[in-house]
Amino acid sequence: METLERCAGPNCGQIRQMNDRWWLMWTSFGEFNRPVLYLAPWDEDIAKREGTLHVCGELCAQRLQSHFMGNVRSNEMTRRVAS
Ligand SMILES: [Zn+2]
Repeated sequence: METLERCAGPNCGQIRQMNDRWWLMWTSFGEFNRPVLYLAPWDEDIAKREGTLHVCGELCAQRLQSHFMGNVRSNEMTRRVAS
């Protein structure tokens, strides 16, 4: 049975239909030693990877990008306060 793919966008939760042109987003830290946000057109293999966010469209991608940027900033602040 196929698992339902739901949009990860805040307050969205839309379910993906077979012919929808969705996007994928994920974050990685390793390559540049800092948090990087990736955005790619839908790909079945990438979509199955752990930590990949399924995104229904531009608006949700923008919201998730905004979350990511906010998280990075607040982490920086926490680090600065801690050190
Ligand atoms: Zn969405």
